[in-house]
Amino acid sequence: MPSFTTRSSSPWMMRSASSRTARSPSPATASPLWAPPLMSSPPSPAPCRPSTWVAALSFQQLARGIADDVDLMTWLHGRIWPYESHMTEEDSYASTLLCGIELIRSGVTCFAEAGGQFVSEMARAVELLGFRACLTKSTMDCGDGLPPNWSCCSTDDCIQSQKELYEKHHNTADGRIRIWFGLRQIMNATDRLLLETRDIAQKLNTGIHMHIAEIPYENQLILRTKGIDHGTVTYLDKIDFLRSNLLAAHSVWLNVPEIGFFSKAGVKVSHCPASAMRMLGFAPIREMLDSGVCVSLGTDGAPSNNRMSIVDEMYLASLINKGREAYISGTTNPTALPAETVLKMATINGAKAVLWDNEIGSLEVGKKADLVVVNPFTWSMVPLHDSIANIVYCMRTENIESVMCNGRWIMKDHKIMNLNEEEVISSAVKRANDLLARAGINLPRRMNYV
Ligand SMILES: [Zn+2]
Repeated sequence: MPSFTTRSSSPWMMRSASSRTARSPSPATASPLWAPPLMSSPPSPAPCRPSTWVAALSFQQLARGIADDVDLMTWLHGRIWPYESHMTEEDSYASTLLCGIELIRSGVTCFAEAGGQFVSEMARAVELLGFRACLTKSTMDCGDGLPPNWSCCSTDDCIQSQKELYEKHHNTADGRIRIWFGLRQIMNATDRLLLETRDIAQKLNTGIHMHIAEIPYENQLILRTKGIDHGTVTYLDKIDFLRSNLLAAHSVWLNVPEIGFFSKAGVKVSHCPASAMRMLGFAPIREMLDSGVCVSLGTDGAPSNNRMSIVDEMYLASLINKGREAYISGTTNPTALPAETVLKMATINGAKAVLWDNEIGSLEVGKKADLVVVNPFTWSMVPLHDSIANIVYCMRTENIESVMCNGRWIMKDHKIMNLNEEEVISSAVKRANDLLARAGINLPRRMNYV
């Protein structure tokens, strides 16, 4: 939504029927449906299939359910900004832990955070959870209507604070944490911040995460104030901001020349299907893919989606973009965004989008041991006539049995390994209730229920 995303990567193993009760799959029971493993080292001697996920705003997890069925202005000014501006560091830690559990349960081993306030607390949570993240601070040096207790920083402060975070956390936690530079959206960034961010990210060899072309209003504002003929992307191209280390969240309202600008510059896109359907619109995903733009998948934050499951996003991405064909051309096209394309968006494209595809995103010799074990032998996935299609169209989060990151199990046989899940949930519930009270967010009662 007007502000965030995340992304990740993880390879998978599919259990064969005869290995269902085994602690780990055996090569002897491998189903011929799956490609042989390409990993050179244990623990995956069994058939497997790689994947890379894109997820979402971990610090917004405590805001799940506070902004459903409301208009955009209410969403932002009445719910999200009060929530974010009243968060404490401990709230952010609890939020990222809760979000991390949901991400790992859906098979995520790495995510890109679009920008929270307390990056050090997010890093602490990611280190404990055991997966990977590209963490970003929410950064604004201008803009109207912000909460009174939450003002913009100067441009210099925005850059300096992120450099300090980079020096403190980049490549920590055995290399699982990377620090990116953040730009919340064009309405909250001066040209100087945009260009200095471009230069410092390039110098430090890291990425930039920014929400781009989310709603028509954004384009209309830029068109009106910047003297250009379309929207944000046209303007960013004009000032030479677009680079291959830019991850553009959402990117819904692009015209054909702007898709060309993204393609030429190598900009990566995070497509968040559920969030787009709730508040943004139909993004030109097929056109971007056809133009060679690297499009990955994301969930956005909990108040924009509610479900932080990349499994659900794969299913939605395929259906929404098939349905869009009828909407834009007047005729149906069930071949649009086939299962293998969606699976690539969720795997290797995610790794490319977070500039990490030299180490993750596919099962290859020399890459890190990140993988997901799927048990397909449930009512929801059998029979397995077409394994790739079944992963995209049939798989549920519950089919994901174990998850490994960096050679260590972070979920094994459905158990989150590095923390007490019940304690995290109960702490998160208490903190969420206290935070809403502090922020003065009161949700209207919809209907009577017991
Ligand atoms: Zn967003």
